[in-house]
Amino acid sequence: MSTPKYAVIDGEIVEWDNATVHVASAAFKFGTTVFEGLRAYWNAKDEDFYLFRMAEHMDRLDFSQRFMRFDGAIPADLVTEKTLELIRANGFSGTNLHIMTSCYVAGMGGPGACGPVGLAITALERPRSANVLNGIHAQVSSWMRVPDNAMPMRVKCNANYNNGRLATVQATADGYDTAIFLNSRGKVSEGPGMCFFMVRGGQVITPDTSNDILESITRDTVLQLAREAGYETVERAVDRSELAAADEAFFCGTAWEVTPILSIDRLPLGSGAVGPVTKKLQQSYIDVCEGNVPAHGEWRLPVYKGAAAKA
Ligand code: PMP
Repeated sequence: MSTPKYAVIDGEIVEWDNATVHVASAAFKFGTTVFEGLRAYWNAKDEDFYLFRMAEHMDRLDFSQRFMRFDGAIPADLVTEKTLELIRANGFSGTNLHIMTSCYVAGMGGPGACGPVGLAITALERPRSANVLNGIHAQVSSWMRVPDNAMPMRVKCNANYNNGRLATVQATADGYDTAIFLNSRGKVSEGPGMCFFMVRGGQVITPDTSNDILESITRDTVLQLAREAGYETVERAVDRSELAAADEAFFCGTAWEVTPILSIDRLPLGSGAVGPVTKKLQQSYIDVCEGNVPAHGEWRLPVYKGAAAKA
């Protein structure tokens, strides 16, 4: 993998190879880290990146730090400033970026250690996956989504992601692209790192937030865009058997954008091709993220124009 010149560690911009964390830190030993994954979309006409829904990502990062009782949580303003600084320092242009922002316990205590808290940010070029266009095949996992009263998925703690890892590794070993989790009540939850939607009888349906899911920013975006396009949206519990009855289904998330699901457990959905509602919502999602349409300018934070305005 080719790496960029700079990353952020402990709030400072450093050469990529110097962005390291000590092996004795609680973050390394116990996964005591919370994080956000964000995207910056390149708009060729404006010659700028747009960070998508930065404020909402920062609210969630703040919640995750508070929930984990971190001492001296890193403030949102500082994270935003350092993210902009990092993209500008690397001089990126032309290709969409994926940004990982981690607040981690750098202290060397046990699993209960709460500080001091460090800030790490990486930004990597990440063009759109072919899966977004072509769709994928999913397996209902035999692994259960961790319940809220064990390790809440609402909190974006990196230790939670080993649950998703088990399901992903199993799904790919079995010849699928990814997995759909059921929760402890047997209801559809989400994918390993993305939320689940289905289209049935013209309604756009997604599991409500009491189904052991991350309160996804893309999920919220898709719900808003679907309503604006005139679709009825429903947030409710979804049974496993309903997956077979769906006309269309898709995953959504910062990394997955809007990715069509063509089959579940080898049973094709609808015609087995990318469905029309999925296609429409995917296009409107991409247009809003990239700034191809004026709508929802409040969701796009310019990277380079902001710097020019400041100078
Ligand atoms: N669920 C999980 C478990 C995730 O890790 C992600 C990715 N952050 C999502 C859903 C999608 O969330 P978002 O749209 O905020 O990226």
